[in-house]
Amino acid sequence: MTRDGEPFLPGPVFAAPYHLSGDPAGSEFTYGRYDNPTWRAYERAVGDLEGGDALVFGSGMGAASTLLMALLEPGDSIVLPSDAYYNVRQLAHDLLPYEVREVPTDTEAVVAAAPGAKLVWVETPSNPGLDVVDIRAVAEACDGTLVVDNTLATPLGQRPLELGADFVLVSATKAMSGHSDLLLGYVAGADLEAVRIARGKLGTIAGPFEVWLAHRSLATLSVRLERECANALRLAELVGEHVPVRYPGLPSDPAHAIASRQMDAFGPVIGFTLPTAAAADEFLRAADLVVEATSFGGTHTTAERRARWGGDDIPEGWIRLSAGCEEPGELARDVENALAQALQQA
Ligand code: PLP
Repeated sequence: MTRDGEPFLPGPVFAAPYHLSGDPAGSEFTYGRYDNPTWRAYERAVGDLEGGDALVFGSGMGAASTLLMALLEPGDSIVLPSDAYYNVRQLAHDLLPYEVREVPTDTEAVVAAAPGAKLVWVETPSNPGLDVVDIRAVAEACDGTLVVDNTLATPLGQRPLELGADFVLVSATKAMSGHSDLLLGYVAGADLEAVRIARGKLGTIAGPFEVWLAHRSLATLSVRLERECANALRLAELVGEHVPVRYPGLPSDPAHAIASRQMDAFGPVIGFTLPTAAAADEFLRAADLVVEATSFGGTHTTAERRARWGGDDIPEGWIRLSAGCEEPGELARDVENALAQALQQA
């Protein structure tokens, strides 16, 4: 419902305490760690996109740690991907008191591991390997809670809650905000009360300005993703003529059959293997339009030799590339040229 004279998107509300007199029971806004009008507006918008309610956090990891701590007791058994974003594994192993079982991002493996687990966490498509699991099949096999990390696809690419997931987690640092200038995360689901209480206790909250910027960016999410996904497919086709490539949108990709059943768009990220680490470094050096950086989903095309970090079971020459919004022909020529130079040096 709009009213004349109102801005399209109200500005960020900066408040630590709010005016609060007398008995606080029933007051909407009491203290800034518990709630904020700017969070609420963003949460309504991303909740609509995911098909549930949503809560915003200061980063994807803030969302992940809060969600796990809200849902689990010490000693609970959980299933985590062995090949997805490594920091979630490290969090569960190093800081949280759960019994962790790791399985690869593979439908059969997750379905076999799910029964009896209090919580199953999948990331599909996975970062950095770009494997995919059948969310509906995994949901049917779970007798505990299913969490899907939807960071790579975004809700425009896939809606896990409709496929049977209990919770969706997204690092909105990536394509959801899309400008490489802030960190943010959210959780979506049908019943978030325990997560809301945990967020208020842990203080894993977001600044109103970042939330407002991310909300502003939602207006262009669809056009950004459309260009990024088209560029990703074009680059995957081009690179695939020379070296092994992974992109769930490629008909020849092992993940394509499941991906095309459950995804509306395949995301901005491709992965490919150059023969050596030196060839991968040469590719990054030779490309003009590809920024070497460790994130994805932004308007600029970014890439990195992922094995430089360790922690992922991928070849030394594996490049994770996130296609941006650059003019498609120019980007393709630049990548083709950089690839030729990299292969020459290998
Ligand atoms: N999930 C995935 C798939 C990610 O790639 C990342 C970060 O790279 C995260 C979660 C964590 O998000 P953040 O960096 O916003 O804490």
